[in-house]
Amino acid sequence: MYKKKIQNIIKDNNLSLKKIKIIAVSKKQNANVIEQAILSGINNFGENYVQESIIKIKKLKKYQDVKWHFIGKIQSNKTKKIAHYFSWCQTVDRKKIAILLNKFRPVYLPPINVLIQVDGFKEIKNNKNYIEKYQSLATSISLMPNLNLRGIMAMPLIKKNITESNIQYENIKNIFFQLKKQHASIDTLSLGTSFDIKESLLATSNMLRIGRDIFNK
Ligand SMILES: *Cc1c(COP(=O)(O)O)cnc(C)c1O
Repeated sequence: MYKKKIQNIIKDNNLSLKKIKIIAVSKKQNANVIEQAILSGINNFGENYVQESIIKIKKLKKYQDVKWHFIGKIQSNKTKKIAHYFSWCQTVDRKKIAILLNKFRPVYLPPINVLIQVDGFKEIKNNKNYIEKYQSLATSISLMPNLNLRGIMAMPLIKKNITESNIQYENIKNIFFQLKKQHASIDTLSLGTSFDIKESLLATSNMLRIGRDIFNK
């Protein structure tokens, strides 16, 4: 059970529980299943596919406290829908997408919360100036009035090589703290799925995206 797992990791490593936010990843789950999760007290859901998610978001509209996080790959022709239906967009990886989200975010909604998706593995090979490209994207986003830059999101590759795996988490953590130094609005490191909860919490993640461990139980 993910809650127990998280609690044990927190206890063993003296981390602070109240700072960790859980996103239930509900891709491929239907609206009835999600409704059960809402009734059990879950308020944040992560969705990967725009078409599929909007049907569910509309069906569950009456639950006004529920926040929807877009965590899938973004195509530019989907940005309008994302800007209309989601509170968070976690997978912004280029300026073009940020510009479109900013343009399409309806004025009657608060700014959409944005996380920059970083690739902690690719940066092992690229080394050196990888931080600069994220800094530049962060600065652009921070200047857009309909976006609220909240931090970064990452999806580490599964590596048998423990050193490469550790470097990924180190890189992600490093990028997070570098950007946080420059932007007061940054408070979120979205890192960790059902299979890497421990590595992620140790890398100071404060937002976990859990799918299987929530819905398969
Ligand atoms: C599916 C998914 C998750 C959840 O993964 P689980 O292994 O089911 O916990 C988290 N983040 C992203 C981006 C995903 O696509």
